[in-house]
Amino acid sequence: MGPVGEGEALILRVSSNCPWNQCLFCPFYKGRTFSIRTLPEIEADIAVARRFYEALERTSWDMGFGGSVNTAVIDEQIKRSPGVYGKYPLEVTEAQWQAFRTLCNVANWMTHGARKVFLQDANAVSMKPTDLLHTLHHLRKTFPSVERVSCYARSRTCDKLTLEELKELHDAGLSWCYVGIESGCDDVLRYMKKGVSKKEHISGCRKLIDAGICVAAFVMPGLAGAEKSHADRHIQETIHVLNEIRPTEVRVRSLAVRDKSLFY
Ligand code: SF4
Repeated sequence: MGPVGEGEALILRVSSNCPWNQCLFCPFYKGRTFSIRTLPEIEADIAVARRFYEALERTSWDMGFGGSVNTAVIDEQIKRSPGVYGKYPLEVTEAQWQAFRTLCNVANWMTHGARKVFLQDANAVSMKPTDLLHTLHHLRKTFPSVERVSCYARSRTCDKLTLEELKELHDAGLSWCYVGIESGCDDVLRYMKKGVSKKEHISGCRKLIDAGICVAAFVMPGLAGAEKSHADRHIQETIHVLNEIRPTEVRVRSLAVRDKSLFY
């Protein structure tokens, strides 16, 4: 799943899980190994999306809907290919269930104009910049309707990229990065094993913005605990970091201690 606001996007997985995976408050990807998908794997997924896209479009034209997708088109598409989707709800294999989910994802994307793509998982910019660039070019060549490509990004990874590399990624279509700042206070970041410093937050996010990439910065009230002096410092220093970065938007996600997190 992508963040709130990306519900219209096609989800394309360029890596699996999180390369850092140590933040104490985070319940995601625990016990799972990080890996970057190969270019042939990513291209194969884009090709599958294209096949589903064309099939839905064809069915829509046949039914007189002029290429637009609705539930009648999806139903008809399923009826036309029982071998691919099975017979709902009882006679469906795992592969047919996957095909059905892909069909729904692509159909949902098409109903929103096939404009947005979200690159999963936790830190898409950890790919080799040349490979990410190739992926972005390939995506836009296959789907010229794509206007916006976004992903989660760690500020530390962005800080290690050069401004020129980020500009190239922006020019190839990368337009939004969702960055987990959480806190601007180094003590809090260290305690929570965020793996990034205040300085790297500022410099990594500034680089994104200077490259033309919009930044949505997540901050986490509550992360320094209830003790007033700690909480005050966490808030003050986080505000300072946000003022230095001047992100496109700020998103507030209060601390919730989930049972899958190391903090729990
Ligand atoms: S918060 Fe982000 S960087 Fe930290 S472990 Fe979770 S997914 Fe990884």
